[in-house]
Amino acid sequence: MIRAFKYQLFPTKEQETLLNKHFGCSRFVWNWGLGEKMKAYQVDKTNLTRYQLQAKLPIMKKTEEFSWLKEVNSLAIQSKLEDLDKAYVAFYRKKSDFPKFKSKKNKQSFRVPQNTKVKFDESKIIIPKFLEGIKFDNHRKFIGEVSSSYVTKTPTGKYHISILVEDNKIIPTKPQVNEKSTIGIDLGISNFATISNGTKVVNPRFLKIKLDRLRRESNKLSRNKKDSKNRDKQRIKLAKLHEQITNSRKDFQHKLSYQLTHDKQVDTIVMETLSIKQMSKNHSLARHIQDCAWYQFQTLLKYKCDWYGKNFVQIGKYEPSSKLCSCGIINHELTLKDRNWTCKVCGVTHDRDILASNNIKQIGLVQPESKPVESDFSCSLKQETADSLGQR
Ligand SMILES: [Zn+2]
Repeated sequence: MIRAFKYQLFPTKEQETLLNKHFGCSRFVWNWGLGEKMKAYQVDKTNLTRYQLQAKLPIMKKTEEFSWLKEVNSLAIQSKLEDLDKAYVAFYRKKSDFPKFKSKKNKQSFRVPQNTKVKFDESKIIIPKFLEGIKFDNHRKFIGEVSSSYVTKTPTGKYHISILVEDNKIIPTKPQVNEKSTIGIDLGISNFATISNGTKVVNPRFLKIKLDRLRRESNKLSRNKKDSKNRDKQRIKLAKLHEQITNSRKDFQHKLSYQLTHDKQVDTIVMETLSIKQMSKNHSLARHIQDCAWYQFQTLLKYKCDWYGKNFVQIGKYEPSSKLCSCGIINHELTLKDRNWTCKVCGVTHDRDILASNNIKQIGLVQPESKPVESDFSCSLKQETADSLGQR
């Protein structure tokens, strides 16, 4: 089974400079590759492949203009072209927007496809070009083979490495789906999660307080003059707040997903599909953060289900889940404000969230296409995506 381990890095000043070169070169190669692809398409509608672009890199490195590309791990920058290919595929499959040029203000990252070594006894991590090792917070050991790793820098200047490790443990077999041990989960705003067994998990209060502050501070930012010192200061303040929110939310979600996947009475968890494409179109900050929180939670829950031998069933986006009475009547008049409603036909009164989670469960049990899904290790990369969304 492949698992991801994340550590904070503590580079020396020189290492920091070289790490920043890696971020810069990776960003450059992405932007350059994207530009080349767009140009070629404009000229004669050809789609340059990753390999055609990759072949140009050694030639560029020989020129004076781009000789600085030689200073960094060549596999790291090549892997950006692979990412670019994936971004195009996702776009063609209508799973995401057209790839964008990357700016320095985004979260910085580069991949290390090979040769990551962790020396736990010396508290050092070795990656190509950093053979002397970078210090890290040695808080958790792992046993297994490293497949690749991923270095990131937050807008507040913290460095992290996520290491993908094959631990050679066998994925536990999953039990048969049966109604008694199945729960449906509905994600919401007032309650973070409502579970079909009647449990409501409220959004932690500290998160709400911090989100209110975030809204105020980001309004301030938009009032600051462009390119002013104050704007920069405000941006860092905002980034720190984002980081705090991301961390405390992740902590809360880790605990909740652990609890759910360790409940002895639960073998199967059903949830709705969250539409990422729709989410990215959401411009309101509060909505955006909420969407990211849901997506991150679903990702955590999916891979924990794999680790601990539970089924995870994902049903389609099912709009009327809070409007559908067990008698089959759909209440089209239900508005977002109505927390409870009484069915005009059978007379049963419903709590809208509990009803939704129960409907999600029922659909998961009967819908033929909603087979248990296996999550794969790309979850941890998706996790990174979720992280970077959260910190934007
Ligand atoms: Zn009814």
